[in-house]
Amino acid sequence: MAKTLAELREMHKKIMTEDKPQGGGGQGVSNWATFQDGDNMVRFLPGKNDPLEFFVEGAVHKYQNSEGQWRNYKCRKPAGEKCPVCDFYFDLWRRHKDLNLGKDATGKNVKSKFGDMATKIKAKERFYAIGVVRALEEAGEDPVKFIAMSKQLFDRVMSAMINEDFQDEDDPDNSTIIDIERGNDFNIRITQQGQWKSFVESQAKYKKTRAGNPAQVAEWMDNELNLQSLVEVGSYEEGKELVMNLEASLNPIKTETTSEAPPWSDDKGDLQV
Ligand SMILES: [Zn+2]
Repeated sequence: MAKTLAELREMHKKIMTEDKPQGGGGQGVSNWATFQDGDNMVRFLPGKNDPLEFFVEGAVHKYQNSEGQWRNYKCRKPAGEKCPVCDFYFDLWRRHKDLNLGKDATGKNVKSKFGDMATKIKAKERFYAIGVVRALEEAGEDPVKFIAMSKQLFDRVMSAMINEDFQDEDDPDNSTIIDIERGNDFNIRITQQGQWKSFVESQAKYKKTRAGNPAQVAEWMDNELNLQSLVEVGSYEEGKELVMNLEASLNPIKTETTSEAPPWSDDKGDLQV
């Protein structure tokens, strides 16, 4: 937390404008882990001060910019602040309701451009941790990255954290999966459920292992990544401007219908902030 507000703002701006890493190189090394469909082995690292403080929570509004690229605005609500995008979200549903569209022949609610946009920008919970990405370690690259998780994936991690099968009763510290000496690697397993990505098959490896050799662990724990910096929310002005742009985009463009998203679809494989 030794950061100045100016540094945080700069960092936030950088995070907000960062392209998805798979979009191409050239912008340097990302601090964010990216994962492929299938198995992705990671080792979550304990918090630097308190081991159990290994994650932080936040919320993001996802939106498409004028070029159609997906971007994030970090919701101000988790910080107890007024969020212009949340206000807009509720306003959109109010406008949708005012249209009194009712239901179609199949009994489904008739969509409107207001409802469609509200669905898109709804704040989604995010959880962030720091972990060692085994594939990067094997490739000889810096493996310590931020790992962004949807509620669904984080639920899998927390289940493993509190599951007695992954605790070590012979160990006075009752070690959990994030323990350096007697912890467990975790498999972020991404499967395709229709058009959505699913994380439900993610789980900890049963075998307890050391995270790495002492020199590696010392280096990993000495990482520069600051979880607290991710808690920083978007500025009010930035949110206002975003709402203005979204509002403008509602009018000239015809509405594209979006499919009904299942509750676990909020990730779409793009969890990064
Ligand atoms: Zn919000």
